[in-house]
Amino acid sequence: MPSPKNAMEIYQLLDKSNCRECGEKTCLAFAGAVFTGQKKLDQCPKLDRETIAPFSKDSESRKALEQERDETLQMLQDRVARIDLAAAAKRIGADFAGDRLTLKVLGKNFSVDSRGKLYADIHINAWVAGPFFDYVLNAKGFQPSGSWVSFRELSDGKERYPLFQKRCEEPMKKVADTYTDLFDDLVHIFSGRQVAKQFESDISVVLHPLPRIPLMVCYWKPEDGLESSLNLFFDKMADDNLDIGSIFSLGAGLAQMFEKLALRHGFPEAQTFR
Ligand code: SF4
Repeated sequence: MPSPKNAMEIYQLLDKSNCRECGEKTCLAFAGAVFTGQKKLDQCPKLDRETIAPFSKDSESRKALEQERDETLQMLQDRVARIDLAAAAKRIGADFAGDRLTLKVLGKNFSVDSRGKLYADIHINAWVAGPFFDYVLNAKGFQPSGSWVSFRELSDGKERYPLFQKRCEEPMKKVADTYTDLFDDLVHIFSGRQVAKQFESDISVVLHPLPRIPLMVCYWKPEDGLESSLNLFFDKMADDNLDIGSIFSLGAGLAQMFEKLALRHGFPEAQTFR
């Protein structure tokens, strides 16, 4: 069985009795906790071994992936600790005061000090911390051009696009299909800005996961038997400021944040999961 792409897939495996034996108030909350790594699937006593077994292998490979990611983060942190932060702030247009470089991530302050330690007004998601370090270390500070391109049009984006679609665009579309307040929440919670409809989409919202890396989420509602669709667009200068791996990581991090947001605010089960 393939690895669950999102919390909804985990939810579909569950008994949906909301019996609370796992310590969570609902099966939906349990699914969210498993997806974010706070609980393990075998903590639901209603699941049989056959259902759990394929996911144990997944959790081993997920652990290996997490270890690799943590090592990369540590390496980036060490490198940040060796650079001149004040000069880096000047290069990328960030603030520098009291030994901290500060910039906005989704409208919230995100800082790093000269030891490489991070400070943020929001939960520090590892998928965002990596690109943040990369941006501080390597961004050239180019201003966005105002022209939007898809991920596959960025350099080295073509080969990675199938995975980007699977990890970012598909889970985001699933959330957008069911969580109707998503785009309003993106505007209010993540300081997004709704812009004139682009590419004939029904809704377009621009977010700033990093100051000079704007990202536009475009959503097309289902219509006349056609499925809905969702695509992300980046400024065409994005790959001049940030490595394609970090741009991928930002998309994956955002997809996870969308899912958490949707789970936290809950959605009507009947519409969402059946
Ligand atoms: S123990 Fe299983 S069935 Fe009961 S609430 Fe938790 S996840 Fe749902």
